[in-house]
Amino acid sequence: MKILQSLQHQIYIGDGSVSLLKEFTKQYAGEQIVVIADENTYRHCYSLLWHPTSTSKISFPFSSPKKGGSPAGERCLEIGRAIIIPSGEDHKNLTTTSTVLEQLLRYQINRNGLIINLGGGVVGDLGGFCASIWKRGIDFIQVPTSLLAMIDASCGGKNGINLDGIKNQIGTFKQPHAVIVDPSFLKTLPQREFISGIAEMLKHAIISKDKSHFYQLSEIKTPTIENITPQIEQSITIKNEIVLQDPYEKNIRKVLNFGHTFGHAIETWSQTTNYPLLHGEAIALGMIYEIHLAHHLQLISKATTTHYLSFIQKFFSHLGTILPTTDVLINIILHDKKNNNRKISFVLPLENGGFDLDVRVDLIEESFFLKKSSTFANINFITFGEIKS
Ligand code: NAD
Repeated sequence: MKILQSLQHQIYIGDGSVSLLKEFTKQYAGEQIVVIADENTYRHCYSLLWHPTSTSKISFPFSSPKKGGSPAGERCLEIGRAIIIPSGEDHKNLTTTSTVLEQLLRYQINRNGLIINLGGGVVGDLGGFCASIWKRGIDFIQVPTSLLAMIDASCGGKNGINLDGIKNQIGTFKQPHAVIVDPSFLKTLPQREFISGIAEMLKHAIISKDKSHFYQLSEIKTPTIENITPQIEQSITIKNEIVLQDPYEKNIRKVLNFGHTFGHAIETWSQTTNYPLLHGEAIALGMIYEIHLAHHLQLISKATTTHYLSFIQKFFSHLGTILPTTDVLINIILHDKKNNNRKISFVLPLENGGFDLDVRVDLIEESFFLKKSSTFANINFITFGEIKS
């Protein structure tokens, strides 16, 4: 098992690491502990908190470790309370939040209690947000179960929900008590969700100065749990190092927003269609738009543009989608929190491999470029049609 030091907490990575919860919950003896899950993670992952199946050996970084980790069948977690929320981005909202808060009240979770968020980024973001405002903030542990949540959403202490369909309009910074990344949860993750999670991995590979993650991912012909799992640690390490330098996103952490200005707008728009995109899929498209924008603004050469685009295309060539019209996209972006009047701040790649964290673009002025670039539909792989689930 690998342990990364983050902001006042550790990130534990490895098959079977979920068994660590037993030791963590001992720290909350006599206090109320509650698990927040969605309907899918409750069905597929919750029982693993009780009966970890992994036989891999874990050395506990706590007192009185047991040799060989938790024997199969031994209860990992001495709790039985769960709050189940409906799955999906649509439910990362105030209504679900208030339901969770009311349930916390019913369970009488006090200031010394603990929330365990068992799920993808939606559970992590919403559960983290609830924990950060409940009784002015109580401890929570992130147990990510989707690839995207493992490598990105669970790390960094950004919690939040959507408002009026706009992404992450309400949120807090509060670091978790621990993050436990157990890749064995991925076995039940649907394939489309798994591929979607790779998008944020590609983002980490592109933004990192150390190109080893980029080259290792480039080597992968067909992504599988077996060949992607070894990349999880490196992807988290890249994010964690950025978060450590800039916890409140005043500077360098903004680089993690690469692909997200267009990505969030595409995601928001797609929720209103019959073919809602997954977060990672929208971010893959967002990175494509922003790579093109960087080329249009002459920040990167044609060769670099092609290099980055083919890296993304390798994993998202299956993606067929109907893209919004330019006007719709611009309107959504103008509502986004990153705008300053008409000028939108973008995080864009530079030719030297670095990033400019604040490229101000007047999207109205550039709308001609964008219209032309809905020939982005021509970027080899974005075809119009139905998204296959
Ligand atoms: P998600 O939480 O909706 O999970 C994806 C789907 O997979 C859901 O239906 C879920 O029920 C299911 N699922 C998850 N794990 C499973 C498992 N092991 N077995 C079976 N089904 C499983 O979406 P996501 O892609 O995990 O996360 C996307 C969210 O994360 C977005 O809301 C995004 O804004 C947020 N995010 C936050 C940060 C951050 O720093 N806080 C960073 C990136 C993304």
